[in-house]
Amino acid sequence: MKVLVIGAGIAGCAAAVALRKAGHDPVVFESHDQTADGVGAWLTLAANGIDALAAIDIDEPALGGGFPTPRFELFAHDGRSLATFLTGPTDTYRTTTTIRRADLYRILRDAVAARGITIHYGRALTGVETTSSGGVRAAFEDGSIADGDLLVGADGLHSAVRRIIDPQCPPPRYTGLLNTGGFASGAGLRLDGTMEQGTMEFRFGRRCFLGQTLAPNGDVWWFANPFSDRELGADELRALDGPRWREDLADLFTGDDIPARALIDATDHVYAGWNTYDLPRVPIWHRDRVVIIGDAAHAISPTSGQGASLAIEDAVQLARALRDLPYEKALPAYEAMRRNRVERAVAEGARTGSSKSAGPFGRFVRNRVVMPIIARKARRQDPTADWLTGSRIDWDQPVS
Ligand SMILES: Cc1cc2nc3c(=O)[nH]c(=O)nc-3n(C[C@H](O)[C@H](O)[C@H](O)COP(=O)(O)OP(=O)(O)OC[C@H]3O[C@@H](n4cnc5c(N)ncnc54)[C@H](O)[C@@H]3O)c2cc1C
Repeated sequence: MKVLVIGAGIAGCAAAVALRKAGHDPVVFESHDQTADGVGAWLTLAANGIDALAAIDIDEPALGGGFPTPRFELFAHDGRSLATFLTGPTDTYRTTTTIRRADLYRILRDAVAARGITIHYGRALTGVETTSSGGVRAAFEDGSIADGDLLVGADGLHSAVRRIIDPQCPPPRYTGLLNTGGFASGAGLRLDGTMEQGTMEFRFGRRCFLGQTLAPNGDVWWFANPFSDRELGADELRALDGPRWREDLADLFTGDDIPARALIDATDHVYAGWNTYDLPRVPIWHRDRVVIIGDAAHAISPTSGQGASLAIEDAVQLARALRDLPYEKALPAYEAMRRNRVERAVAEGARTGSSKSAGPFGRFVRNRVVMPIIARKARRQDPTADWLTGSRIDWDQPVS
């Protein structure tokens, strides 16, 4: 089949590679004019995402493009360590990996190009219709059209394809957290001298959450989630940039034992802030010859560190289904393989996200009750048995 893939982000590029491996003929359309960097300075690829990349033979470049982060450690606002745990299986070939977003995009797009698949840039999808010959036709903002046998919407959180297959679809849900971050370099970077290579530290500030990890070159990669009950409008977001923003951000940690000011001072460019969202349930994932994957189908709170990994899993599972079944059976089979897993992950991500911004009572319960339970469970649990990060995809197993 000729498959029109809309979006050259993580899901779209992984889908193109997977569909080619499954024997189809994908072609990708991306709305940005050139390489789309997307939002977010860096992200973690979880073990399940690396395993999904292995199924389509691009795990090695992804592992090589980042650095391993096999442990998480959580801290209270007063600097007390609350829990330490492994982030998933620690086999050398699928340890949780921290990678710059731009590097992951480059690796995925290189893999697409190496397979002779074309990405058309500057082509924003505006419409989709079924043709009289039984195919699908995509219309683009620039007036061009493209015909194919199937269309895969990998066009992210604000997906046009999702709205086309279900105009009643609920919009993305604001999570109550903003996001920003950067790369801190220079002298005194080890901050209080306790940062360990391979550990991602998470610090529950009282007005802002901080995540940070030490890169092999001594830089600290960090993100911050200022709490905001209200989703900010475009003008308000534009104001979250520049010197004033750096000051305001550092002020959010006043009174907490969190070395945020040192981080901000050592960071050349602190990213402008943006709202974060999830999509707990998208009722319709496919209609006729059109299907959605990745954030278009189930965006998850960034807190989970799973959005990219789940998007890659979708791409691989959809391609397996389309390898083994005609499309009218493959699309329901794909949904059956994916829906429960991703909705459970999104629900878990929402719970974790809301614990970041707990009030005084919630903080007490989180730090004194929930965290000790998590710490005890993590000590007992085999990370390879974790339902989310421990799952594996067998490319060769037929889909029925
Ligand atoms: C702050 C933040 C931190 C995150 N951290 C992590 C993390 O640590 N780990 C993790 O796994 N995930 C993380 N995520 C989530 C992860 O980035 C997403 O889940 C992932 O990018 C989804 O991939 P996607 O391909 O579905 O969407 P995207 O990567 O958003 O790609 C969609 C693509 O479609 C294009 N497009 C959009 N509309 C159109 C159109 N009409 N026509 C053509 N093209 C179109 C876009 O330009 C874009 O290139 C984070 C997200 C955020 C916001």
